[in-house]
Amino acid sequence: MMETVYVDNNATTRTAPEVVEAMLPYFSDRYGNPSSMHFFGGQVGAELNRARANLADLLGADPDEIIYTSCGTESDNTAIWAALRSHPEKRHVITTRVEHPAIDNLANHLRQLGYRVTEVGVDREGRLNMDHLTDAISDETAIISVMWANNETGVVFPVEEIAEMARGRGVVFHTDAVQAVGKVPIDLRKSKIDMLSLSGHKLHAPKGIGALYVRKGTKFKPFVVGGHQEKGRRGGTENVPYIIGLGRAAQLAAGHLDDENTRVRAMRDRLEQGLLAAIPNSMVNGDREHRLPNTSSVSFEYVEGESILMHLSNLGICASSGSACTSGSLEPSHVLRAMGVPFTAAHGSIRFSLSVYNTDAEMEYIIQHVPPIIDKLRDLSPFWKDGGPTESALLTGAASCSIRH
Ligand code: PLP
Repeated sequence: MMETVYVDNNATTRTAPEVVEAMLPYFSDRYGNPSSMHFFGGQVGAELNRARANLADLLGADPDEIIYTSCGTESDNTAIWAALRSHPEKRHVITTRVEHPAIDNLANHLRQLGYRVTEVGVDREGRLNMDHLTDAISDETAIISVMWANNETGVVFPVEEIAEMARGRGVVFHTDAVQAVGKVPIDLRKSKIDMLSLSGHKLHAPKGIGALYVRKGTKFKPFVVGGHQEKGRRGGTENVPYIIGLGRAAQLAAGHLDDENTRVRAMRDRLEQGLLAAIPNSMVNGDREHRLPNTSSVSFEYVEGESILMHLSNLGICASSGSACTSGSLEPSHVLRAMGVPFTAAHGSIRFSLSVYNTDAEMEYIIQHVPPIIDKLRDLSPFWKDGGPTESALLTGAASCSIRH
């Protein structure tokens, strides 16, 4: 058995050894406060500036346009509240039905506070309904927030096009690019995106560091109010070691971008092809053309994702499922539901998300071990008999809601 085959990189990534190495001195010798007047703090401040410049380079941004936060969630919250507080007369927000909870639950919260929220839907391939989005914009709209790439399916949205349209209508545009940074080329100098969120732990920096890009000239009000740090845009003494780590991770990500889009993409495609060829009634979720190179959401009909995950875990394979088993009720992911993926498929969906640390041998290991797991689980399923779905399973697409193993 292989020790650990980690294909859950959209959940979190391994901190790169180079990143750990860059961070270590800032936990020991270089402990100065970058705001201090003395040389000792000043040296740290200079390194902080370098790290900021490295992150800005990855995005095609100016270092002054970067605000450090504690995570992607804080960046998302900061962006939305900045727009709402800067335009108090506008009480409408546009977002999508497939956002991460960092935006989705904030949208629910805003509704409770009396804001109007439009959530634009997607089609069966996870592509955004652009007509709905365009029609929803009004004089009341304070901000449009659309993720760059979906964390579950990897589907990439036309954020540049939406940003252009938002600018034309005088509306602020924010993108949650937590899953996109380091996987797709980004050049904000050529773009009309006003704000962009990212998170360190998705690009081989540690958990607990994020950043928000705010284009120069964008009206902004801080979310965390306090000291003068981050030019008064986010209070709190800087998380120096993690900021240094994120800067190093940004440098590495710039160097790995080609590898992500060639070798990692090829491994992902080989994995999908191997699984689909060996397993009947399996399918890939999401637009295969406009997709992150590292992500694959595969549905194995008539089995439960959780059961597959447990069997995979016993073999050392770490992946995610598209349904959350909470308090005994199995609820398929809101993303797959928004796409109209039938329950029978949504319940049996597994997300494999790769990184530059994966190998071809790991893909072959997964391809070898998943088919017998699916066979075994289908043998236990009341909806599967003699190598195919039973008549009752086909008649009721929602039947798998009640599957229990
Ligand atoms: N947005 C997206 C698309 C994500 O995938 C995630 C994390 O899974 C987040 C936001 C939240 O990031 P963090 O865990 O840094 O708060």
